[in-house]
Amino acid sequence: MRRYQKRGIIAVLAGLLAGLTLLICVRRTALPVDASAHLSQQKLIALTFDDGPRRSTTTRLLDGLAERGVKATFFLIGKQLADHEDVVRRMDREGHQIGIHTFDHVQLTDLNQADFDAQVVTTRTLLKDILGHNDFLLRPPYGKWDEGVKKRAGCPIILWSIDPEDWNDKNTDRVVNMVVNQARDGGIILLHDIYPQSVDAALAIVDKLHAQGYYFCTIDQLFAARGISLNPGEVYWNAYP
Ligand SMILES: [Zn+2]
Repeated sequence: MRRYQKRGIIAVLAGLLAGLTLLICVRRTALPVDASAHLSQQKLIALTFDDGPRRSTTTRLLDGLAERGVKATFFLIGKQLADHEDVVRRMDREGHQIGIHTFDHVQLTDLNQADFDAQVVTTRTLLKDILGHNDFLLRPPYGKWDEGVKKRAGCPIILWSIDPEDWNDKNTDRVVNMVVNQARDGGIILLHDIYPQSVDAALAIVDKLHAQGYYFCTIDQLFAARGISLNPGEVYWNAYP
C-alpha cells in the first residue's frame, strides 16, 4: 500500500514536471518572433500613451501589449496616481517606460519655478515613491515647451512624430489607418490610453506593424538602438535615421 502510494506520488510529480515543461515551451514559442531580435538591425517604432492611467482602459491595454510582447512608454498624470498605484507598478514590472505628463495636465510654458515644481517635481516624487526609482521622462501637455521648460525639466523632453489625434473623433479605423500610413523607422506614435477606441486602435496598430516587420520599443530603447543620447532639458521628436 505504502509502495503504491509512493509510486502514485512519483507519477503525480512527474506529471506536474512534464506539464510545467510543456507550459514553459509553449510560452517561449508563443512569444513574438522579434522578441529576441537585435534592435539595431530592425525597423523600430515607439508607442507612447498620454493622460493615463485610467484603470479600465489602461489595464486592457496592458493585457493586450503583454499578449503581443510589446513594450511602450506611458506619460502619466500626477493627480491620477493615487488610485492607480498597482497599475503603475504593473507597467514598470512589465518593462514599460514611464514619464511625467504634469500633475493637473497644464501647459508648462510661462510658469514660475513654484508652479512648475508643483506640476513636474510633485509628480516625479509621487512616481519615485511608488516605483523606487527616479528616471522619468517628461512630455509637456499639448507639446508646448519653451526655454523655461527646458531649463527646469531635469530630464529629457519627449514629443512625437506621428499624431492621429485619437481624442478628436475616437474613430478606431481612422486612427489605425493614419498611424500605419505614417509609420516609419524611428517614429514616435502618440495615443491616449484613456479611451477604449484608442486601446483598440493601439492593439490593431501593433498587429499591422508587426506584420510589416516593425519592432515596438520604449523611448530609451529606441534612442539607445540608434546611438542617440537622451539629455536632460533637450527636446526629441523622433529617432529617424
Ligand atoms: Zn495630454
